[in-house]
Amino acid sequence: MQKDKIQTVQTETAPTKVNQDKINASVSLLQQAADEYAPDLVFACSFGAEDVVLIDLISRYVPSISIITLDTGRLPQATYDVMDACREKYGLNIQVYFPDAADVEHMVSESGLNLFYKSVENRKRCCAIRKIQPLKRALSTAQAWLTGLRREQADSRQDMTAVEDDAYFGIKKFNPLIEWTESEVWNYIRANDVPYNALHDQHYPSIGCEPCSRAISVGEDPRSGRWWWEREDGVAECGLHASPIKRPVK
Ligand code: SF4
Repeated sequence: MQKDKIQTVQTETAPTKVNQDKINASVSLLQQAADEYAPDLVFACSFGAEDVVLIDLISRYVPSISIITLDTGRLPQATYDVMDACREKYGLNIQVYFPDAADVEHMVSESGLNLFYKSVENRKRCCAIRKIQPLKRALSTAQAWLTGLRREQADSRQDMTAVEDDAYFGIKKFNPLIEWTESEVWNYIRANDVPYNALHDQHYPSIGCEPCSRAISVGEDPRSGRWWWEREDGVAECGLHASPIKRPVK
């Protein structure tokens, strides 16, 4: 990859004022969610740029919201680092959910540690065991959950709204940053000195498990760094947030 031809997410975005109207709207939605559903309300945090903005907003304005995260066992070190930085800065108690050990042992013994590169079916199996099942467990007693999804992140997120009925998990879903732009996310991070994943400075706009995330070049879809070897199949989601859709094949 030619580094002089790629830009980071942060340097791509021109510095503009933090949008106070959007901050106010997001805080209102967080408060509404907490009023209606806390303590049965969970923020599922993966420590991407949007999620650290939500951590900052929750810590400042609605600290009653519970924060959980999934440790798939394949996360980059940078994700553990930002997790610890947030714990330290905000004094957070973050509940960590791991995959079922027996399921992982069986899968890896049968198909290898890097089975996901071999087929879409294998990748879905790994995501189901390492991500979806632990999230199901985390949400099993919740009536609502919060995410850092933004509409402009992917074609598959265009129809999402701030408050949704999550048919998959059977609970309410709140997306307080759904209207935010990438610039607004980074302006908020800079203005409030929010800890963020160091991989964002290495051209990773979207960060998941280490073997399934890569840096991207200028002009590429921000989600193209995830499961890139499946691009001919057009799969853009792991199943946590939306049904996979077909995207244009390059
Ligand atoms: S993102 Fe990759 S390593 Fe992580 S659960 Fe999915 S297939 Fe497995």
